[in-house]
Amino acid sequence: MSSKLDQPVSSLNGVGPKLQQKLHKLGIRRVVDLLFHLPLRYQNRTRITPISLVKANQDYVIEGRVLNCQVAFGRRRSLICTIEDDSAAIQLRFFHFSKTQQQAFQNGRMIRCFGDVRFGRNGLEMVHPEYEFDPNPTQPLSKHLTPVYPSTEGMTQGVWRKLQQQALDILRNSQDELALFTLPAGMAKLEVNLKQALLYLHLPPADADLFAIHEGTHPFQQRLAFEELLAHQLSLLQLRSQRQMLQAPAFACNNALVERLLETLPFYLTGAQKRCVDEIASDCANTTPMLRLVQGDVGSGKTIVAAIAALLAIGAGYQAAIMAPTEILAEQHKENFEHWFSALGLRVAWLVGRQTPRQKQQIVDDLASGLIQVIIGTHAIFQEKVEFNRLGLIIIDEQHRFGVHQRLALRDKGTNDGIVPHQLIMTATPIPRTLAMTAYADLDLSIIDELPPGRTPVKTIALEEHRRHDVIERIKAACQQGRQAYWVCTLIEESEALNCQAAEKTAEQLGKELQGLRVGLVHGRLKAEEKADVMFAFAEGGIDVLVATTVIEVGVNVPNASLMVIENPERLGLAQLHQLRGRVGRGDTESFCVLLYQSPLSENAKQRINILRDTNDGFKIAETDLKLRGPGEVLGSRQTGILQFRVADIERDQDLLADVGHYAKTLFSENNAIIQPLIDRWISNADYYAQG
Ligand code: ADP
Ligand code: MG
Repeated sequence: MSSKLDQPVSSLNGVGPKLQQKLHKLGIRRVVDLLFHLPLRYQNRTRITPISLVKANQDYVIEGRVLNCQVAFGRRRSLICTIEDDSAAIQLRFFHFSKTQQQAFQNGRMIRCFGDVRFGRNGLEMVHPEYEFDPNPTQPLSKHLTPVYPSTEGMTQGVWRKLQQQALDILRNSQDELALFTLPAGMAKLEVNLKQALLYLHLPPADADLFAIHEGTHPFQQRLAFEELLAHQLSLLQLRSQRQMLQAPAFACNNALVERLLETLPFYLTGAQKRCVDEIASDCANTTPMLRLVQGDVGSGKTIVAAIAALLAIGAGYQAAIMAPTEILAEQHKENFEHWFSALGLRVAWLVGRQTPRQKQQIVDDLASGLIQVIIGTHAIFQEKVEFNRLGLIIIDEQHRFGVHQRLALRDKGTNDGIVPHQLIMTATPIPRTLAMTAYADLDLSIIDELPPGRTPVKTIALEEHRRHDVIERIKAACQQGRQAYWVCTLIEESEALNCQAAEKTAEQLGKELQGLRVGLVHGRLKAEEKADVMFAFAEGGIDVLVATTVIEVGVNVPNASLMVIENPERLGLAQLHQLRGRVGRGDTESFCVLLYQSPLSENAKQRINILRDTNDGFKIAETDLKLRGPGEVLGSRQTGILQFRVADIERDQDLLADVGHYAKTLFSENNAIIQPLIDRWISNADYYAQG
């Protein structure tokens, strides 16, 4: 379907290559994208307000006679002009003005101004208003509120208004598209059609409920939000059904290998782990490919769940591949899996960047011939010329570190005669339920909402930076009792180089102050091998205090470490802080996390630190994070372009989600003709379709 609304923005008057580029950066490619770029706020130029009625912090059109005009030499030189109507007088103030401008303000001259009113030194004043002299009394004021658009450098409101005017004209004249925009009746939210809603929101009438519009709760906005959420939901359902057309191998729900592993474990699975295993097993018993996301807080025991899933595949004669985000984690998984699987007579191998070509070749050969049942690795697994004998299951740990494309690349590697492997994704970053429903509608979800028994929760303490010395004493005491500690350095800059420098300096200082203790250092600039060596030494107890940048964030397991210091926690997001803290509290001694902050803290930072002190529950923390930062940040926006909504706001529009989900399913089950046009309308990013 192609219409004028789908034409590129370059088809509009005044859009040359430069402007086009600016618009593209804002995600505006088509005329319809422009229409979804809604005003940030509005100016009211619809009526002239008597000067006696104006109030501070609002904009007005006023009209009056110039009473006097003079240059004032206060803190800043300014032109001050008093004007008066029948009701009162007010001052206009200009900081930038020319001689000619000044001379134009002749006493008695009529002037019409538009601008913001605020409190000045001598009462209310209008600063730098737009103005015109001798206004034509018959010239109409504007009929609608005037939109102010979110902008980007070098684009004035004038440019925006000219573009939008053209887009709105196209919309007004587009009779045929209207049908597509009208969703079947029956739901209150849908009673307005899209055309009406867009016209209204770009150019609201003078009496519009601006408060509701500002809050995003106006019925017309809700109408748009509903449709946008619906379009996203439908596109995810589409991805899901495309996947379901593929064939995967079916594994029996249980096998002797699983039984034997469970017998050798020194613990029983928690109820939540059992439920999760059952969900995976029942998915894999089908030839429909599984795509399941396991969410479990740090330390909830996801690894053993992954191991059992792998055994389901192996028991059915297939291989399993496990992808970890870092070499350190890959190594840890390898150790765990070897420990569990060698007793079962299975061969586990790992593949990472630092192995020699010969070592790699051997593994690649053994994988292809089927001698290896489980392969663990970093993205090297799919960068190398790896071929599987019979890959039945892909497990991805800590999915946030992987792009969707990497996941698909691995899946494609495992595809054999049209048979695709099942996929299991595991994340320690809990995602609030509403968000998960919306963002991952194409995935099935399992939640491990229970920690293994016997854990003592980490005590979190917030201290101001000037207590640094006390903290160091505390480390000394802990290490003298045979414990180990992490010291995490953060910097506000996005530069890993600067972070490394800071960490180096801290390590040096701590080395001096902690005479007799062994201080190690790990940061992103070290070679993988060096990093692994340091981590290994720490895990073995050869290092007492590990100074690190946030590279240790993910998954590392050193149960003897019972103290963690995080410098400048105010600079990190909640999810990241929670992940970091999850490195301690893994053994049976009481653990502490010290947040060493710089005051003064912003209100937001205070709230983040408080919630960390109050709870260890990753889901609660995630809910707060969502409130404080918004869904894009919580999910890691780079990988979830899907949540770059134009109008909708998951937090604000939560109430719509249930209806949206229900309605999307109905439309989908009827294979309604509206689906594709809706998706095309709202989702312009072509990459999105590549996500499968
Ligand atoms: P995560 O979910 O963070 O990946 P892990 O899988 O690393 O957690 O598990 C953390 C620790 O808990 C490991 O030492 C693991 O052996 C242990 N563990 C896992 N499940 C249980 C259980 N049901 N009972 C006792 N300990 C368990
Ligand atoms: Mg883990």
